[in-house]
Amino acid sequence: MTACESGPCASRGPGSAGRGPTRAVLAALLVAAVGSGCASGTAERADTGPGHRTGASMGPFPALPTEPPPGQPGGPGYHGGAGAPADRGAPAGARENAKLAPAVRAALAKKWGLARAPLIAPPPAAKPRITTRRGFEVTGGDASLPPVFTTVPTKDRVVFLTMDDGAEKDPELLRMMDELDIPYSAFLTDHEVRGNYGYFGEAQRLGVGLNNHTLSHPYLPGLSYEEQKREICGQQDIIEEQFGKRPVLFRPPYGNYNGDTLRIAKSCGIEAVPLWNAEAFPDHMEWREGDGKLRPGDIILTHFRGRNEWGADMTELVRAVMKTITDQGYAVARLEDYV
Ligand SMILES: [Zn+2]
Repeated sequence: MTACESGPCASRGPGSAGRGPTRAVLAALLVAAVGSGCASGTAERADTGPGHRTGASMGPFPALPTEPPPGQPGGPGYHGGAGAPADRGAPAGARENAKLAPAVRAALAKKWGLARAPLIAPPPAAKPRITTRRGFEVTGGDASLPPVFTTVPTKDRVVFLTMDDGAEKDPELLRMMDELDIPYSAFLTDHEVRGNYGYFGEAQRLGVGLNNHTLSHPYLPGLSYEEQKREICGQQDIIEEQFGKRPVLFRPPYGNYNGDTLRIAKSCGIEAVPLWNAEAFPDHMEWREGDGKLRPGDIILTHFRGRNEWGADMTELVRAVMKTITDQGYAVARLEDYV
């Protein structure tokens, strides 16, 4: 797949325009507030159980590093992160937040309990060509099927945040991600979402890509062709009806699929099937590779979940996963910009 084949070439989310002034004003107020000791939130991780495991087997997770590694990113176009060469060489496509002074970004990070401002990457100059990860092929599959992958092929020191299902609808999450300008992509299951389409419409307005994760979250290989078609193409139709845009990205529940899944997905507009290489919880990470390290282009899975399931809310989840990402020297990029 090459640049622009898989979706709109616009590098900005639908709600990007017009966000800048609001955030700039907010940021200015924040600097004043933080300066007078009004910052809230903590960077502590929730002390909860291991949480839900997905179908994929992942290795144990190591302790998070407490110190940033040497050689912080700060590559062209990256910004954020105290001490990083902020804004240097930021291309025209860099996010609005790149215009905010490092001190303002640091203040926003502090407000939300992050020790350091997140690193945010601009869109790449061109989308990489993505193929199915070895070992993830289907019997009888061919190169025309949507690729299944866990890591986007790139040398950029970026990772991607993805959130699945849609059970928890925490307004604080939308506020936090918007103020910190952290890109993320949603993979929605209609049965979790249908009670409050408005929440995800607001997420979309703030730049979040809304993608397909079936109608009811079944184990797809256990279904007939027609049943799979209803689950996948039915959700394509609902997302298009509710949010005005037909997805091109699909993630099968539990990461389980077969040849029918990919053929059906392709038949109703899906162009790529991003799985994940690590999963984030409020109190730990689970890694597919087992060495506890992020790799360039890694896709990170997490979920719209909250206190009921995690004993921690979504802002705590974001604090934890952003600590892992930033400490390992990675910026967050928008999956839809690369795929
Ligand atoms: Zn799911």
